[in-house]
Amino acid sequence: MKVCLRSLLLGLALMGSVSGMARVQFDQWFENRTLRMDYVLSGDSVEQRISLDELYSLPYWAGRRNNLDSLHLEGNGQILMHDAASGQLIYCLSFSTLFQEWQHTEEAQRSYKSFECTHLLPFPRKKVNVTVRLQNSRREVTCERSFPVDPEDIQIRRLDKVPAQPHKYIVKSGTAEKCIDIAILAEGYQESEMDSFYADAQKMSDHLFAHEPFKSMKRCFNVVAVASPSIDTGVSTPRNKDWRRTALGAQFDTFYSDRYLTTLRMKRVQDMLSGIPYEHIVILVNTDTYGGGGIYNQYMIAAMHHPSSLPVCVHEFGHSFAGLADEYAYGDEVTPYYHRDVEPWEKNITTLVHFEQKWKDMVPAGTPIPTPENKNVKTETERIGVFEGAGYLKKGVYRPVQDCRMRVNNVPAFCPVCQRALKDLVNYYVK
Ligand SMILES: [Zn+2]
Repeated sequence: MKVCLRSLLLGLALMGSVSGMARVQFDQWFENRTLRMDYVLSGDSVEQRISLDELYSLPYWAGRRNNLDSLHLEGNGQILMHDAASGQLIYCLSFSTLFQEWQHTEEAQRSYKSFECTHLLPFPRKKVNVTVRLQNSRREVTCERSFPVDPEDIQIRRLDKVPAQPHKYIVKSGTAEKCIDIAILAEGYQESEMDSFYADAQKMSDHLFAHEPFKSMKRCFNVVAVASPSIDTGVSTPRNKDWRRTALGAQFDTFYSDRYLTTLRMKRVQDMLSGIPYEHIVILVNTDTYGGGGIYNQYMIAAMHHPSSLPVCVHEFGHSFAGLADEYAYGDEVTPYYHRDVEPWEKNITTLVHFEQKWKDMVPAGTPIPTPENKNVKTETERIGVFEGAGYLKKGVYRPVQDCRMRVNNVPAFCPVCQRALKDLVNYYVK
C-alpha cells in the first residue's frame, strides 16, 4: 500500500478536532465579513501553479462558525488560514477543481491552461497566511503556495456597498449565521424569463428537500433564488458552433465531453452573488438538452428543462455539497481518478484499503464481499453491502447498495450511507 505519509498526517491533524472542543472562537479571530479570494490554477498534465488574483471584502459571513480549524472531508485540495503571528490554524476548507479534472484529459498533454478559482473565507482581524494546497488522486500533496493577507491592505476590493441582484427566498429557516445558505443562480434566462426561473428554482428546491436527509433537516437551510439575467436565452453548445451571451458563461462540451455542462467563469458567478449571504452555489440552465456537473465546494450546474433534470440536480448537489462520489462504473480500464490500492476520501465508495473508515459498521454480519446484486428487482436501495463497481471502475471499487441516487437517475433516494454522510456534514456546518 502506497499512501503518502504527509497527507495521512495532514488528514489526522485536520480531522482530529471534529468531535473535540472548539479551539478557535469565531469572534476572537474574525469579523462578520467575508474575504473572497480569487486565484488562478494553471498548468498542464504534469505541472501545477497557484497564483493569487484578487481579494475582496464582502458584507456578512454566511459560512460555518464552529469546527473552524477542522475538515470534515479531505477533498482534492484544501485552503488553510494561519494566524501570521502565532502560526495557529484558524480556518480551513476543502474542495475539488475543474483544473485537476482537466489535467487528466488528452488536451492537458499538449496545452497549458489557466482556470479561475474562488473561495470564501471568514474575514480575519489580524494578519494571516492563506495556503492553497492541491492533492492528486493518490491523496499526495502535489502543489502548495501561501499568500500573506493583511486585513488592512488597501488593495482588498471592498464590495460592501454593491447592490444585490434581485432575489427571492424560497426557504428561509433562520439567519445566515445559523443556517446553511444555498444560492440558486439563473443561467441563460433573459430578463423576461425570470418568472420561469423562479418557478424552476422552486421546483428544484422542492425536489431536493423531498430527499432524506434534507427533508428532515430543512430547518438547517436557507435557499435564495438570484435573478442573474442573460442577454441571450439558452446556453452555449460548442459542438453546434452555437455560442450565446449568458450571465455566467456556461457551456456544454466541457473537455470535449458532450454532456459535461459547466462554467469556467468563476469570477462572474461570484460577482453575481455580491451582497447576498451564500455558501453553496446552484446554477440552473435554461435548456432542454441533458447535462450538468457538480464540483465539491465550488458549484453544481444542471440543465433545467430535460425530463431527468430534477434527479440530475439532486445527484450533482451530492457532488458539490457533500463531495459524494459517483457510484457507477464505466469499465475495467484504469481511470486516473481512483486507484485500487488507495482508499478514496469520498464517504460513499471504498477500495477496502480502509473500509473501517467507511460503512463497515452498517454492513450486516455474514454479508458476502462482493455482495451479489439482486437481478430480480428493478431497483434496490436499502440492502447495505459491498457491491463491486463504483468510481467509474467495474473492479476493485465498491459501493454501499445496489442502486443509489449517486448511481442512477431513476432511484428516488440517496442510499443509507450517502444519507449518513450528508447528515454528518450538515451537522458539521450547523452544530
Ligand atoms: Zn449512495
